[in-house]
Amino acid sequence: MSAKLLFGKPIQEALLEEVAASARTIIEAGQRPPHLTAVLVGGDPASAIYVRTKTNKSREVGFGSEAIILPQETTTKEVLSTVTRLNEDDAVDGILVQLPLPEHCDTKTVLDAVDPAKDVDCFHPHNTGLLVQGRPRFAPATPAGIIELLERSDIEIAGKHAVIIGRSDIVGKPMAMLLLHRHATVTICHSRTPDLAAVCRGADILVAAVGVPGMVTKEFVKPGAVVIDVGINRVADRDQAADILGDSADWERFEERGYLVVGDVRPDVAEAAGAMTPVPRGVGPLTIGMVLVNTLAAARERRGVGGES
Ligand code: NAD
Repeated sequence: MSAKLLFGKPIQEALLEEVAASARTIIEAGQRPPHLTAVLVGGDPASAIYVRTKTNKSREVGFGSEAIILPQETTTKEVLSTVTRLNEDDAVDGILVQLPLPEHCDTKTVLDAVDPAKDVDCFHPHNTGLLVQGRPRFAPATPAGIIELLERSDIEIAGKHAVIIGRSDIVGKPMAMLLLHRHATVTICHSRTPDLAAVCRGADILVAAVGVPGMVTKEFVKPGAVVIDVGINRVADRDQAADILGDSADWERFEERGYLVVGDVRPDVAEAAGAMTPVPRGVGPLTIGMVLVNTLAAARERRGVGGES
Protein backbone atom coordinates (compact mmCIF):
# COMPACT_ATOMS: atom_id res chain seq x y z
CA MET A 1 0.00 0.00 0.00
CA SER A 2 1.21 3.54 -0.67
CA ALA A 3 -0.46 6.44 1.07
CA LYS A 4 -2.12 9.25 -0.80
CA LEU A 5 -0.05 12.37 -0.02
CA LEU A 6 -2.07 15.28 1.35
CA PHE A 7 -0.39 18.50 0.21
CA GLY A 8 -1.22 21.73 2.01
CA LYS A 9 -0.47 24.15 -0.82
CA PRO A 10 -3.64 23.63 -2.96
CA ILE A 11 -5.79 24.03 0.14
CA GLN A 12 -3.85 27.11 1.22
CA GLU A 13 -4.44 28.57 -2.26
CA ALA A 14 -8.18 27.93 -1.99
CA LEU A 15 -8.24 29.55 1.47
CA LEU A 16 -6.27 32.58 0.26
CA GLU A 17 -8.58 33.03 -2.75
CA GLU A 18 -11.60 33.04 -0.44
CA VAL A 19 -9.95 35.54 1.89
CA ALA A 20 -8.83 37.74 -1.04
CA ALA A 21 -12.40 37.81 -2.40
CA SER A 22 -13.65 39.01 1.00
CA ALA A 23 -10.88 41.65 1.16
CA ARG A 24 -11.94 42.93 -2.28
CA THR A 25 -15.56 43.20 -1.13
CA ILE A 26 -14.46 45.20 1.92
CA ILE A 27 -12.32 47.56 -0.15
CA GLU A 28 -15.08 48.01 -2.76
CA ALA A 29 -17.44 48.97 0.05
CA GLY A 30 -15.01 51.81 0.86
CA GLN A 31 -13.74 50.23 4.09
CA ARG A 32 -10.20 49.61 5.22
CA PRO A 33 -8.99 46.06 4.50
CA PRO A 34 -8.11 43.80 7.45
CA HIS A 35 -4.71 44.58 8.94
CA LEU A 36 -2.29 42.08 10.51
CA THR A 37 0.74 43.14 12.57
CA ALA A 38 3.38 40.60 13.52
CA VAL A 39 5.84 41.11 16.38
CA LEU A 40 9.21 39.38 16.11
CA VAL A 41 11.72 39.55 18.94
CA GLY A 42 15.30 38.59 18.07
CA GLY A 43 16.94 37.24 14.96
CA ASP A 44 15.99 33.54 14.89
CA PRO A 45 16.21 32.78 11.14
CA ALA A 46 13.29 30.31 11.07
CA SER A 47 11.03 32.76 12.94
CA ALA A 48 12.06 35.58 10.57
CA ILE A 49 11.03 33.41 7.60
CA TYR A 50 7.65 32.59 9.20
CA VAL A 51 6.95 36.26 9.89
CA ARG A 52 7.99 37.35 6.40
CA THR A 53 5.79 34.67 4.84
CA LYS A 54 2.78 35.72 6.93
CA THR A 55 3.15 39.44 6.14
CA ASN A 56 3.79 38.74 2.42
CA LYS A 57 0.77 36.46 2.13
CA SER A 58 -1.33 39.08 3.95
CA ARG A 59 -0.39 41.69 1.37
CA GLU A 60 -1.01 39.21 -1.48
CA VAL A 61 -4.65 38.84 -0.39
CA GLY A 62 -5.07 42.61 -0.12
CA PHE A 63 -4.66 43.02 3.64
CA GLY A 64 -2.52 45.65 5.27
CA SER A 65 0.40 44.07 7.10
CA GLU A 66 3.77 44.79 8.66
CA ALA A 67 6.24 43.23 11.06
CA ILE A 68 7.63 44.99 14.11
CA ILE A 69 11.11 43.60 14.66
CA LEU A 70 12.55 44.09 18.14
CA PRO A 71 16.15 43.30 19.17
CA GLN A 72 17.03 40.05 20.96
CA GLU A 73 17.67 41.86 24.27
CA THR A 74 14.16 43.41 24.42
CA THR A 75 12.68 42.94 27.90
CA THR A 76 9.25 41.50 28.69
CA LYS A 77 8.16 44.99 29.72
CA GLU A 78 9.20 46.44 26.37
CA VAL A 79 7.43 43.69 24.42
CA LEU A 80 4.34 44.36 26.56
CA SER A 81 4.44 48.05 25.71
CA THR A 82 4.52 47.20 21.96
CA VAL A 83 1.57 44.83 22.43
CA THR A 84 -0.36 47.49 24.38
CA ARG A 85 0.25 50.04 21.63
CA LEU A 86 -1.06 47.57 19.01
CA ASN A 87 -4.08 46.74 21.20
CA GLU A 88 -4.95 50.43 21.29
CA ASP A 89 -4.32 51.05 17.59
CA ASP A 90 -7.71 50.88 15.88
CA ALA A 91 -6.02 50.35 12.48
CA VAL A 92 -4.69 46.95 13.65
CA ASP A 93 -7.17 44.05 13.47
CA GLY A 94 -4.85 41.11 14.19
CA ILE A 95 -1.75 40.81 16.38
CA LEU A 96 0.61 37.91 16.08
CA VAL A 97 3.54 37.49 18.48
CA GLN A 98 5.95 35.09 16.82
CA LEU A 99 7.13 32.28 19.10
CA PRO A 100 9.49 31.33 20.53
CA LEU A 101 10.30 34.57 22.34
CA PRO A 102 13.87 34.81 23.71
CA GLU A 103 14.31 32.84 26.93
CA HIS A 104 14.42 35.91 29.16
CA CYS A 105 10.94 36.98 27.99
CA ASP A 106 7.87 35.78 29.87
CA THR A 107 5.87 34.23 27.02
CA LYS A 108 2.65 33.65 29.00
CA THR A 109 2.54 37.26 30.22
CA VAL A 110 3.07 38.57 26.69
CA LEU A 111 0.45 36.30 25.10
CA ASP A 112 -2.06 37.09 27.86
CA ALA A 113 -1.61 40.79 27.14
CA VAL A 114 -2.84 40.55 23.53
CA ASP A 115 -6.39 41.91 23.17
CA PRO A 116 -8.52 38.73 22.78
CA ALA A 117 -10.42 40.42 19.93
CA LYS A 118 -7.11 40.74 18.01
CA ASP A 119 -5.62 37.39 19.06
CA VAL A 120 -5.50 35.79 15.60
CA ASP A 121 -3.27 32.94 16.84
CA CYS A 122 -6.00 32.03 19.37
CA PHE A 123 -3.51 31.75 22.26
CA HIS A 124 -5.33 33.97 24.81
CA PRO A 125 -7.00 32.03 27.67
CA HIS A 126 -10.29 33.78 26.89
CA ASN A 127 -10.22 32.43 23.34
CA THR A 128 -9.04 29.02 24.55
CA GLY A 129 -12.07 28.92 26.87
CA LEU A 130 -14.43 29.72 24.02
CA LEU A 131 -12.77 27.02 21.94
CA VAL A 132 -13.18 24.41 24.71
CA GLN A 133 -16.86 25.31 24.96
CA GLY A 134 -17.28 24.70 21.24
CA ARG A 135 -18.00 28.33 20.33
CA PRO A 136 -14.61 29.51 19.07
CA ARG A 137 -14.03 33.15 18.20
CA PHE A 138 -10.88 32.21 16.31
CA ALA A 139 -9.66 28.86 15.13
CA PRO A 140 -6.16 28.04 16.47
CA ALA A 141 -4.21 28.25 13.22
CA THR A 142 -2.33 24.94 12.91
CA PRO A 143 -5.05 22.60 14.23
CA ALA A 144 -7.73 24.48 12.28
CA GLY A 145 -5.60 24.16 9.14
CA ILE A 146 -5.50 20.41 9.73
CA ILE A 147 -9.31 20.32 9.99
CA GLU A 148 -9.52 22.21 6.66
CA LEU A 149 -7.12 19.67 5.15
CA LEU A 150 -9.16 16.70 6.40
CA GLU A 151 -12.52 18.16 5.41
CA ARG A 152 -11.44 19.41 2.00
CA SER A 153 -9.82 16.00 1.32
CA ASP A 154 -13.19 14.32 2.15
CA ILE A 155 -11.76 12.48 5.15
CA GLU A 156 -14.49 11.50 7.60
CA ILE A 157 -13.93 12.68 11.19
CA ALA A 158 -17.21 11.85 12.96
CA GLY A 159 -17.10 8.48 14.71
CA LYS A 160 -13.39 7.96 14.00
CA HIS A 161 -10.75 7.35 16.65
CA ALA A 162 -8.25 10.22 16.54
CA VAL A 163 -4.99 9.86 18.43
CA ILE A 164 -2.86 12.95 18.97
CA ILE A 165 0.76 12.70 20.08
CA GLY A 166 1.64 15.93 21.95
CA ARG A 167 -0.32 18.00 24.44
CA SER A 168 0.95 21.54 23.78
CA ASP A 169 -1.37 24.52 24.14
CA ILE A 170 -0.58 25.48 20.55
CA VAL A 171 -1.16 22.22 18.71
CA GLY A 172 -2.04 19.08 20.73
CA LYS A 173 -4.78 20.39 23.05
CA PRO A 174 -6.65 22.61 20.55
CA MET A 175 -6.37 19.83 17.94
CA ALA A 176 -8.11 17.51 20.40
CA MET A 177 -10.92 20.04 20.93
CA LEU A 178 -11.52 20.61 17.22
CA LEU A 179 -11.65 16.86 16.51
CA LEU A 180 -13.88 16.25 19.55
CA HIS A 181 -16.33 18.92 18.41
CA ARG A 182 -16.48 17.15 15.06
CA HIS A 183 -17.46 13.95 16.89
CA ALA A 184 -14.21 12.00 16.80
CA THR A 185 -13.28 9.84 19.79
CA VAL A 186 -10.07 11.50 20.90
CA THR A 187 -7.01 10.18 22.72
CA ILE A 188 -4.19 12.55 23.67
CA CYS A 189 -0.76 10.97 24.17
CA HIS A 190 2.38 12.55 25.54
CA SER A 191 5.88 11.89 26.82
CA ARG A 192 4.61 9.71 29.68
CA THR A 193 2.15 7.57 27.73
CA PRO A 194 3.13 3.91 28.15
CA ASP A 195 3.31 1.77 25.01
CA LEU A 196 2.76 4.73 22.72
CA ALA A 197 2.98 2.68 19.51
CA ALA A 198 0.14 0.39 20.63
CA VAL A 199 -2.12 3.34 21.48
CA CYS A 200 -1.35 4.95 18.12
CA ARG A 201 -2.13 1.71 16.28
CA GLY A 202 -5.73 2.16 17.42
CA ALA A 203 -6.01 5.42 15.46
CA ASP A 204 -8.03 6.01 12.32
CA ILE A 205 -6.54 9.51 12.32
CA LEU A 206 -3.08 9.93 13.86
CA VAL A 207 -1.72 13.44 14.47
CA ALA A 208 1.95 13.75 15.44
CA ALA A 209 2.84 17.08 17.08
CA VAL A 210 5.92 16.26 19.09
CA GLY A 211 9.07 17.82 17.65
CA VAL A 212 11.11 14.59 17.62
CA PRO A 213 12.37 13.84 14.11
CA GLY A 214 11.12 10.56 12.68
CA MET A 215 9.75 9.15 15.95
CA VAL A 216 6.58 7.77 14.33
CA THR A 217 7.42 4.53 12.54
CA LYS A 218 5.26 2.01 10.66
CA GLU A 219 4.75 0.21 13.99
CA PHE A 220 2.61 3.19 15.14
CA VAL A 221 0.21 3.02 12.23
CA LYS A 222 -2.86 0.91 11.58
CA PRO A 223 -2.95 -0.06 7.87
CA GLY A 224 -4.99 2.52 5.96
CA ALA A 225 -4.94 5.18 8.74
CA VAL A 226 -4.70 8.90 8.00
CA VAL A 227 -1.42 10.30 9.37
CA ILE A 228 -0.94 14.03 9.91
CA ASP A 229 2.63 15.12 10.56
CA VAL A 230 2.85 18.52 12.28
CA GLY A 231 6.54 18.25 13.20
CA ILE A 232 9.01 20.67 11.66
CA ASN A 233 12.48 19.62 12.73
CA ARG A 234 15.84 20.72 11.36
CA VAL A 235 18.23 17.79 11.16
CA ALA A 236 21.85 18.80 10.63
CA ASP A 237 23.33 15.34 11.25
CA ARG A 238 23.82 13.58 7.89
CA ASP A 239 23.55 10.05 9.34
CA GLN A 240 20.34 10.88 11.21
CA ALA A 241 18.82 12.47 8.09
CA ALA A 242 19.84 9.43 6.00
CA ASP A 243 18.38 7.05 8.58
CA ILE A 244 15.01 8.86 8.69
CA LEU A 245 14.60 9.94 5.10
CA GLY A 246 16.30 7.07 3.22
CA ASP A 247 16.04 7.55 -0.55
CA SER A 248 13.83 10.63 -0.19
CA ALA A 249 16.67 12.75 1.31
CA ASP A 250 17.52 15.78 -0.83
CA TRP A 251 21.30 15.85 -0.41
CA GLU A 252 21.75 18.86 -2.67
CA ARG A 253 19.56 20.86 -0.31
CA PHE A 254 21.43 19.44 2.67
CA GLU A 255 24.75 20.69 1.23
CA GLU A 256 23.23 24.08 0.41
CA ARG A 257 21.63 24.70 3.83
CA GLY A 258 23.51 22.45 6.22
CA TYR A 259 20.30 20.74 7.39
CA LEU A 260 17.10 19.10 6.15
CA VAL A 261 13.58 19.71 7.45
CA VAL A 262 12.17 16.44 8.77
CA GLY A 263 8.77 15.67 10.26
CA ASP A 264 7.90 13.61 13.34
CA VAL A 265 6.81 10.81 10.98
CA ARG A 266 9.20 8.72 8.92
CA PRO A 267 8.39 8.89 5.19
CA ASP A 268 8.25 5.07 4.92
CA VAL A 269 5.06 5.22 7.04
CA ALA A 270 3.47 5.84 3.62
CA GLU A 271 3.77 2.06 3.09
CA ALA A 272 1.20 1.50 5.86
CA ALA A 273 -0.94 4.67 5.93
CA GLY A 274 -3.94 5.30 3.67
CA ALA A 275 -3.16 9.02 3.47
CA MET A 276 -0.47 11.22 5.01
CA THR A 277 0.91 14.73 4.95
CA PRO A 278 4.48 15.18 3.73
CA VAL A 279 7.03 17.40 5.49
CA PRO A 280 7.66 19.99 4.19
CA ARG A 281 4.63 21.03 2.07
CA GLY A 282 1.97 19.35 4.23
CA VAL A 283 0.53 21.12 7.28
CA GLY A 284 2.83 24.19 7.21
CA PRO A 285 1.09 26.20 4.45
CA LEU A 286 -2.29 25.76 6.16
CA THR A 287 -1.17 27.48 9.36
CA ILE A 288 -0.47 30.64 7.37
CA GLY A 289 -3.80 30.38 5.55
CA MET A 290 -5.72 30.14 8.82
CA VAL A 291 -3.96 33.17 10.34
CA LEU A 292 -5.38 35.20 7.45
CA VAL A 293 -8.84 33.65 7.87
CA ASN A 294 -8.65 34.73 11.53
CA THR A 295 -7.50 38.25 10.66
CA LEU A 296 -10.54 38.61 8.39
CA ALA A 297 -12.77 37.30 11.20
CA ALA A 298 -11.19 39.79 13.64
CA ALA A 299 -11.84 42.72 11.28
CA ARG A 300 -15.45 41.57 10.85
CA GLU A 301 -16.03 41.24 14.57
CA ARG A 302 -14.28 44.46 15.58
CA ARG A 303 -15.34 46.75 12.76
CA GLY A 304 -18.30 44.96 11.19
CA VAL A 305 -16.60 45.05 7.77
CA GLY A 306 -17.57 42.82 4.86
CA GLY A 307 -20.79 41.40 6.29
CA GLU A 308 -21.26 37.96 7.86
CA SER A 309 -18.41 35.45 8.11
P1 NAD B 1 5.90 21.34 22.27
O1 NAD B 1 7.35 21.07 22.50
O2 NAD B 1 5.24 22.47 22.94
O3 NAD B 1 5.06 20.04 22.63
C1 NAD B 1 5.52 18.75 22.31
C2 NAD B 1 4.62 17.73 22.96
O4 NAD B 1 5.11 16.44 22.61
C3 NAD B 1 4.59 17.80 24.48
O5 NAD B 1 3.23 17.85 24.88
C4 NAD B 1 5.23 16.49 24.96
O6 NAD B 1 4.52 15.89 26.04
C5 NAD B 1 5.12 15.60 23.76
N1 NAD B 1 6.28 14.72 23.67
C6 NAD B 1 7.58 15.06 23.75
N2 NAD B 1 8.35 13.95 23.60
C7 NAD B 1 7.52 12.92 23.46
C8 NAD B 1 7.70 11.52 23.27
N3 NAD B 1 8.91 10.99 23.21
N4 NAD B 1 6.61 10.75 23.16
C9 NAD B 1 5.37 11.28 23.20
N5 NAD B 1 5.13 12.60 23.35
C10 NAD B 1 6.19 13.39 23.48
O7 NAD B 1 5.76 21.43 20.68
P2 NAD B 1 4.61 22.07 19.72
O8 NAD B 1 4.67 23.54 19.78
O9 NAD B 1 3.31 21.38 19.96
O10 NAD B 1 5.19 21.62 18.31
C11 NAD B 1 5.35 20.25 17.98
C12 NAD B 1 6.00 20.16 16.63
O11 NAD B 1 5.16 20.77 15.66
C13 NAD B 1 7.35 20.89 16.50
O12 NAD B 1 8.18 20.18 15.62
C14 NAD B 1 6.97 22.22 15.89
O13 NAD B 1 8.03 22.81 15.16
C15 NAD B 1 5.85 21.80 14.98
N6 NAD B 1 4.88 22.86 14.65
C16 NAD B 1 4.52 22.98 13.36
C17 NAD B 1 3.57 23.92 12.99
C18 NAD B 1 3.16 24.01 11.54
O14 NAD B 1 2.67 25.03 11.12
N7 NAD B 1 3.33 22.94 10.78
C19 NAD B 1 3.01 24.76 13.94
C20 NAD B 1 3.37 24.59 15.29
C21 NAD B 1 4.30 23.62 15.64
